[in-house]
Amino acid sequence: MSGRCGGIRKGDQRGMPWRIAAKYAAGQTARDRIRQAAHGSRRLVLLQTPRGQPALVDFPFARDEKTSFMQARQRLERSNWLLDALPAAERERVIARCTQVDLVLGRVVHEAGERIRHVYFPTESFISVLATVDGHSTLEVGMIGNEGLCGCGLALGSAVAQLRALTQGAGAAWRMQASVFGRCLQDTPSLRALVNRYVHVHLGQLAQTAACARFHVVEERLARWLLMTGDRAHADTFYVTQEFLAFMLGVRRVGVTAAAGTLQARGLIRYRRGNLTIVDRDRLEAAACSCYRSDLETYRQGLGARVTAKH
Ligand SMILES: [Zn+2]
Repeated sequence: MSGRCGGIRKGDQRGMPWRIAAKYAAGQTARDRIRQAAHGSRRLVLLQTPRGQPALVDFPFARDEKTSFMQARQRLERSNWLLDALPAAERERVIARCTQVDLVLGRVVHEAGERIRHVYFPTESFISVLATVDGHSTLEVGMIGNEGLCGCGLALGSAVAQLRALTQGAGAAWRMQASVFGRCLQDTPSLRALVNRYVHVHLGQLAQTAACARFHVVEERLARWLLMTGDRAHADTFYVTQEFLAFMLGVRRVGVTAAAGTLQARGLIRYRRGNLTIVDRDRLEAAACSCYRSDLETYRQGLGARVTAKH
């Protein structure tokens, strides 16, 4: 099953169809309205979120206007929890200072030790945070989907990234320049408060992952990783190679192959040519280490965010 939302409950969207928030004056066309909403060189369209908040969305250049509107709405449907939690006027002001970008699978967002040029609020995409030891061994210590933001070290006054970040799931994200983000934190207290809470929760996730790698076996950790990935991909099927899994879990490929084989033999997952499907989510949760549940609880308590894709 695909297309589930994490930050926003899917149920919130049912029975409340998307509609274009802009009201057209007599003789005014959709194109006129879009021009009015232009911001610098960008073409923006004003849409209404399922929660009734107005939001400016970059207008995609599709083959016709109707398709462009449809694509704009689809993009907005997968919004970012931190931005959604802002009061409507502030949310709009913050988003107006962002650019919508498509993050490419496997692309490095920033290296450890590199200056943070942008922060990213993922909407469809998700980002892995990686620690490297001795210059080559790598372990994923955090995952950022549409419940958070990448580059939150800036909020603590650090302009340099401590950890490597790369795109694990391709798709859209809101991107904001680091300097603009700094000003936003100063002039938008509600954003500052949310980001502070997120930093606290994110640190909890980093610590939990370190403890997990020390105390839990590969099979349990793999199950946890697959569930976390499914939650942030908003899907039960996603593409992942065994090399990538080994890289993320910091183990040898043979260990991942054995663990994945066991989960498949038990009917919890199906893995074929890089396409992994979570077949039985409840039993996969039971097979995962306690860190998966603990993470969900951390996000729920710290942010009120419902990260899991499970209904
Ligand atoms: Zn664990």
